[in-house]
Amino acid sequence: MDDTLPQSDMNPADLTGPSHLSCDILIHGAHLFTMQGSGVGYLADGAVAVRGTRIMGVGPTADLRARFEPAEIIDASHCAVLPGLIDAHMHTPLAIFRGVAQDVSQWMQLGLAAFNQHLTSSAAMAGSQLNVLEALKAGTTTFGDYARPFPGWAEFYLQVGVRARLAATINALPPGGMAGWQVGDLYPLDNEAGCRSLDAAIRFTRHWQGAGDGRISLMLGPQAPDMLTRDQLREVKRLAQMEGLMIHMHVAQGDREISQMTQRYGMRTPEFLRQLGYLDQQLLAVHLTEASEQEAELIAQSGTRMVLCSGSIGIIDGIVPPAHAFREAGGPVALGSDQACGNNCSNIFNEMKLTALFNKIRFRDPTVMPAWEVLRMATIEGAEAIGLGDQIGSLRVGKQADLIVVDLRALNLSPVITDPVRNIVPNLVYAASGREVKTVMVAGRLLVRNGQVLTADENAIRSEAQVQATALAKRVAADPIHRGLALMQAMKKGQL
Ligand SMILES: [Zn+2]
Repeated sequence: MDDTLPQSDMNPADLTGPSHLSCDILIHGAHLFTMQGSGVGYLADGAVAVRGTRIMGVGPTADLRARFEPAEIIDASHCAVLPGLIDAHMHTPLAIFRGVAQDVSQWMQLGLAAFNQHLTSSAAMAGSQLNVLEALKAGTTTFGDYARPFPGWAEFYLQVGVRARLAATINALPPGGMAGWQVGDLYPLDNEAGCRSLDAAIRFTRHWQGAGDGRISLMLGPQAPDMLTRDQLREVKRLAQMEGLMIHMHVAQGDREISQMTQRYGMRTPEFLRQLGYLDQQLLAVHLTEASEQEAELIAQSGTRMVLCSGSIGIIDGIVPPAHAFREAGGPVALGSDQACGNNCSNIFNEMKLTALFNKIRFRDPTVMPAWEVLRMATIEGAEAIGLGDQIGSLRVGKQADLIVVDLRALNLSPVITDPVRNIVPNLVYAASGREVKTVMVAGRLLVRNGQVLTADENAIRSEAQVQATALAKRVAADPIHRGLALMQAMKKGQL
């Protein structure tokens, strides 16, 4: 567990004594969860030494204090220190209409579409900033954000300092999106709109890939197999292979998609993607809501990775996706919060708890998806799923210094017991809310300290989101399209 970068790897100028290495920050005295090995890699009274963007030492506090000469010390007594959490699938702009589309059927068409119609760039920006700060304060350090690019989207990630794995949405839906069709209709695909969308995504991807010293990285984002033409899907795959990019795509994300695929191609999504050559390590498949367990196993065996959005799919569809089968077949699974209009939050502590609970309930088996496994899905397994397993996801020498400090003195996390049974991981998964996160570091830089965001103005962002949301709601209310919202019935009955 005690690993320190060998002195031979260091610049001699960094040595401050025969056995002292300089470092920027030493975090010590922690209940350390390194996520090394096959469990959670626990170390009592552990420490992490950070220099520049990287982890320089991980081990017992006494060892690291003897070995490092830090510029700053952070005392993490009574705290858990663990790798930053990974939210592999988000649509941050949609937080501007948080909570307007749950408890309904056909969420996308009857809940979301009317609001989406009136989403301006400035409203998208306000929603994205709100969502990023919400997640950051709850310990998310890597953001798998998925959106049609708008001015300021990637720039804000640079400013705040978190790690982002962005996907620019590519689809061939005609202007107006999905608002114009009746449920069940085969929607038309617009070849020209698809080509414009693909060109814009490629330009965005090439421009931002590797920005912020590599903190910003890109995937290609064909929205879903039912939202591009078959030729466009082939073109996306060709570009992904040529440029060495992963593909981030919603797959089998509802009965709507399966209905579209069987009407258009005479087959279900997994078989369609298999025939198209999409099922391989390059694909990050989101949801698999409507995939059978057998289909999930076949997809996992192809090398494809999965994102599980338990809160979102639970609320939107009332379904527990087949992530258990996917993992049993050897596929890595990351967690995602999806969107705040029907989840209604972006908080990986929430996703860990829901993932464990939903799967236990689905299988009527309390041993399914124990706390330590979902913590791995939120950290090292998630990192592997999104293709960043060699850089983040565990506290290991040489990796990026992305970590969080969680205050275990919070009433809901107390008392701490370490012997004969350790209760910290179960409490982090089943009792933490995210508000116990005190400190967040990404690439060696402190972004949150004592619960305060250091790199953005939280009050200004909340105020702007309220202004933009009020204006957006007014536009929707003035458009007759709002009469089709499924929640109008609940409004009339006084249920909201
Ligand atoms: Zn999504």
